[in-house]
Amino acid sequence: MHHAAQFGIVTGSFAVDMAKVRQRKREMVEGLIAMHLELYQKSGAELIMGEGRFVAPKTLEVRLRDGGTRVLAGERIFLNVGTHATIPSIPGLADAGPLTHIEALELDRLPAHLIVLGGGYVGLELAQAYRRFGSRVTVVEHGPQLAGREDPDVADAIGRLFDDEGIEVLLSAEAIRVEGHSGGSVRLHVRTPRGERIIEGSDILAATGRTPNTAGIGLDAAGVQLEARGYIQVNDRLETSAPDVWALGECAGSPQFTHVSLDDFRVIRDNLAGGNRTTRDRLIPFCLFTDPPLARVGWSEAEARRRGMAVRVAKLPMSSVLRTRTTAETRGFMKALLDAQTDRILGFTMIGPEAGEVVAVVQTAMLAGLPYTGLRDAILAHPTMAEGLNALFSQLPPSSAH
Ligand SMILES: Cc1cc2nc3c(=O)[nH]c(=O)nc-3n(C[C@H](O)[C@H](O)[C@H](O)COP(=O)(O)OP(=O)(O)OC[C@H]3O[C@@H](n4cnc5c(N)ncnc54)[C@H](O)[C@@H]3O)c2cc1C
Repeated sequence: MHHAAQFGIVTGSFAVDMAKVRQRKREMVEGLIAMHLELYQKSGAELIMGEGRFVAPKTLEVRLRDGGTRVLAGERIFLNVGTHATIPSIPGLADAGPLTHIEALELDRLPAHLIVLGGGYVGLELAQAYRRFGSRVTVVEHGPQLAGREDPDVADAIGRLFDDEGIEVLLSAEAIRVEGHSGGSVRLHVRTPRGERIIEGSDILAATGRTPNTAGIGLDAAGVQLEARGYIQVNDRLETSAPDVWALGECAGSPQFTHVSLDDFRVIRDNLAGGNRTTRDRLIPFCLFTDPPLARVGWSEAEARRRGMAVRVAKLPMSSVLRTRTTAETRGFMKALLDAQTDRILGFTMIGPEAGEVVAVVQTAMLAGLPYTGLRDAILAHPTMAEGLNALFSQLPPSSAH
C-alpha cells in the first residue's frame, strides 16, 4: 500500500486493523498445530501434554496440563526442550513487563512507539513489521552493527533499509535503566557514543537472545551435563553424558533454526537405524525475513578471513539484476566467496528480494560440488532473481586462469 502510487494504483486512505492481523496469525498457527497433532496421532505415538522433570535416570515426572502427575520411564530419552527469550538484567526492565516475541505477535493494537532491544534476527523482523503497520520504532543494539554475525557491508545494507523506512537505529548503545510500563509509557536510558539519552516509548520489546529451557528439570538427577551457557552438552552424534539420552535442537546448542532442529532429528534417527551421521560440517542456510530478506549459506567474508582462509570475493548490486527493475525493489546485493585456489564456492550472501530462494540455488550447487563456473554458465530463466548469479560469477576468472 505504501508503494501503490509508484505502480500506478490510486488508493484512498487505508488503516491497519491489528485485531484482524492477530486473528490471521492465530488461524495460521492453529492450522499448523492441528496439522502436527494429526500427524502425531497417525504415527501411533502417545502424546502427553504436560511439563516433564527428571526424578531419576531415564525417569520423568510429568505435571499434566489437565491436572495430576504421571511418572514415565523410558529405555531411550530424547531431550528437545528448546529455549525461551532472555530478559536481560537491565535495572527496571523486568518490572516494566517487556514484550517478548510471543506478546509482540499477540498484540491487537498498534504501539505508538516501539523500542526494540536487540538488533538480531528477532528484533529486526519485528521492528520492520511494526514500522510497516504504522508504529514509530527505535532499535537499540549494544554491538557496533546490526546482525552481529554478518559482514559489515550486510549490516550497513540493513541499516540503510531501516533508514529508508524511518526506523531509528542506535548502535554501540548500552541500555542502562528502564522506567515505566510497556503497554503504557516507558523510558529507556541509554549510553551511546554520543552521550546519554532517554528514549520515551509506549512499548519495549526484549529481543536480546535466548536462554535454554534446561533449568529446574532435574537434569542432574538424570546424569545429563550442561555446558557453561546452560545448553545440554552433546557430542557430534547428539549423545549426552547420560547413556541412552540424546539432546537435539536449540537446547543442545545447535544453530537456532527450525531446519537445524529437524536435521538434528534426522542425525539421531539415522544413527539409531545403524547409520553413522554427525552434526559436523553441515551446510546450514538461513533467511532473515525482513523485506527484502537477507539470506546466507556457507562462510561469511569476515569469518573466512578471520580463519585465515584464502578467498576471492564477487559482489553484485541487486540493481544489476533486471528482475528488480520489474518489481521496483533494487536495494541490496549478492556476494559470493570462492576458494582462492580452486573454483569451489565457500559462501553466498544475498540481501534482496527472494534471497532465501536464490540461496537454495547456490546451496544446491555447493552440495553437488559444482564449481562456480557451473552457475556462471548455466542458462537461467530471464527475468528471475537467480539469473543474477550469471553476472555475479562472471566477475571472476576461473582458477585455471591464474
Ligand atoms: C521470533 C522468532 C522467529 C523465528 N523465525 C525463524 C525462522 O524464520 N526460521 C527458522 O528456521 N527458525 C526461526 N526461529 C527459530 C526456531 O523457532 C527455533 O530454532 C526452533 O523452534 C527450535 O526448535 P526446537 O525443537 O529446538 O525447540 P522448540 O521449537 O522451542 O520446542 C521445544 C518445545 O519443548 C517444550 N518444553 C520445554 N521444556 C519442557 C518440559 N520441561 N517439558 C515438556 N515440554 C517442554 C516447549 O514448550 C516447546 O514446545 C525463530 C525463533 C523466534 C523466537
